[in-house]
Amino acid sequence: MNDGVSLKADCSQCQALCCVALAFDRSDMFAIDKPAGVACPNLTPDYGCKIHAKLGELGFSGCQRYDCLGAGQRIVNEVFPDIDWMKATLHLPVIMESFAAMRKVHELLELLFTAQKLPLSRKDGATCLQLIAELSPASGWQAETLREFGDSDIRQRVDVFVKGLRNLPKFRIQAQK
Ligand code: SF4
Repeated sequence: MNDGVSLKADCSQCQALCCVALAFDRSDMFAIDKPAGVACPNLTPDYGCKIHAKLGELGFSGCQRYDCLGAGQRIVNEVFPDIDWMKATLHLPVIMESFAAMRKVHELLELLFTAQKLPLSRKDGATCLQLIAELSPASGWQAETLREFGDSDIRQRVDVFVKGLRNLPKFRIQAQK
């Protein structure tokens, strides 16, 4: 059960948030240095990538490896549906902050969805469901609630819960999938 949340990135429904929000350090994965909040020079005005077909060849394998776990399209379509950040860069700081928080929400959900596939005790199953519900608010996420998420203790609670499952025989196998 995953409450319909997709953890698969759909770049066609996004505004290339990773191409502006993330900082790149020049390395064997990124050919350039780029600070967070500055658009990648390869980004096109329609949120495409000038070098998409040659990312690896041109030294940008880090872009191929990055996975937002579906956070990007949620931020664009659910949290800021009326904002096109290239035309309204004033909003970029809050969009970036929300994107970082949503990425973390999805990371925690991925762990919990994995845990749900295990033979959990009734108590652990209920805890898992409760944590998923907290990370899937019925009214959706907003910039304010994502900010509150950053200050809340749910990350620690998921961490404690997942660590408590370590001794389940299938956990390591599932977690690696
Ligand atoms: S933030 Fe995610 S969905 Fe958006 S362009 Fe990047 S990988 Fe694709």
